[in-house]
Amino acid sequence: MAHAFDTDTEAQGLIDYVDSSPTPFHACEQSAELLAAAGFTQVRETDPFPTEAGAHYLLRGGSLIAWDTRATHGVAGPAAGFRVVGAHTDSPNLRLKPHSDHVKAGWQMLAVEPYGGLILGSWLDRDLGLAGRVAVRSAGGTTTRLFHDRQPLLRVAQLAIHLDRSQNEGFTLNRQQHMVPLWGVGDEPGDIVGYLAEQVGVDREDVLGSDVMTHPTQPSARIGRRRELIAAPRLDNLATSYAGTRALVDATGGQASTGSAALAQVPVLVLFDHEEIGSTSERGAMSTLLPSVLERIVTAGGGSRDDYWRSLAATVIASGDMGHATHPNYAERHEPLHHIAVNAGPVLKVNTNLRYATDSVGAAAFRLACEQAGVPMQTFVTRSDLPCGSTVGPMTAALTGATTVDFGAATLSMHSARELCGAHDPAMYAGALSAFLAPTR
Ligand code: ZN
Repeated sequence: MAHAFDTDTEAQGLIDYVDSSPTPFHACEQSAELLAAAGFTQVRETDPFPTEAGAHYLLRGGSLIAWDTRATHGVAGPAAGFRVVGAHTDSPNLRLKPHSDHVKAGWQMLAVEPYGGLILGSWLDRDLGLAGRVAVRSAGGTTTRLFHDRQPLLRVAQLAIHLDRSQNEGFTLNRQQHMVPLWGVGDEPGDIVGYLAEQVGVDREDVLGSDVMTHPTQPSARIGRRRELIAAPRLDNLATSYAGTRALVDATGGQASTGSAALAQVPVLVLFDHEEIGSTSERGAMSTLLPSVLERIVTAGGGSRDDYWRSLAATVIASGDMGHATHPNYAERHEPLHHIAVNAGPVLKVNTNLRYATDSVGAAAFRLACEQAGVPMQTFVTRSDLPCGSTVGPMTAALTGATTVDFGAATLSMHSARELCGAHDPAMYAGALSAFLAPTR
């Protein structure tokens, strides 16, 4: 069932996915489109779960979960367990404050609040666009609409070197004072509400709420002497969201029509919002999203609550988030025995203090997946004297009790407005994840 992924196809697919996903809402929409094209149908949380075997997805704001019970149905029973690939859809950026319109020194400005751990300086002097979700008045109450304005509108302007000669000696950016984008000239504010109404096609007074964020409008690109690299925003963690989506489609492809070899466990993809700010929300990794959907899959398939707990005991979760490639200009910041290279395959992430959930059992499952896919695997450990980042892996492990492994793909400039990864890695990444979702042994 799983097959080799083509390097150029996956690299371009990632570029298109990233450029169409300026917000978590859009990333979920992109993944939903790819899944729908492969025959997955949407389930609404307010509806009963389908009792027949099938391939489905469910959206909760900027989070998505998808699963396919066709290959296990009637073979493994409701307590079969799951193979879960997890990732996150959000990235650090600048988000509009509720009252953002104002004027300063003859410039029209928009007040923003930094979201997550962004590298502030990487957002300076870039052409920025706006995108997001708007809650609008509708016949039955309210409804939400997405918009994505690809036009460059805003700029967080640098100070000229002449006005501060110390800038190249390291300077501090104040999150309140120095990160405010301008988007026009005049003595009157630019009317953001009118702009939003225009974007989603409603009257001004029907805009009831909004989640609006900025994004760099420069398209993603293949760069490097042999075009072996991808420069793009939001690779953390859209590279994993995209590879996971491609992997689920590949791992389940043709299951119903060909009746090919049954899977022992139900393959699941879960994409969480809010990882960059700690995951505690109605749809983050600390939410009920994953456990409630897994339980409903078991019970809709005729299983009991005991079957649900049995299925969790038979579950393995692979939690994907980008990893640090060894930086040539700062090689001393990396653990010397664990150098990580781009275009050298997926990265297993290990931390003895469990900032990553990986243990030997999870590591073995991931290693077998890489073997099955025929791709190399690397192992990341941070320096003992540097704090280690974390991800959703330890949370989903704690909430489900399932064996969990953390992995990623090699990246430079993580949390910059424009990150860098290898162009050969997306295909290897998707291959490994497909094999993880559909193991042959
Ligand atoms: Zn991340």
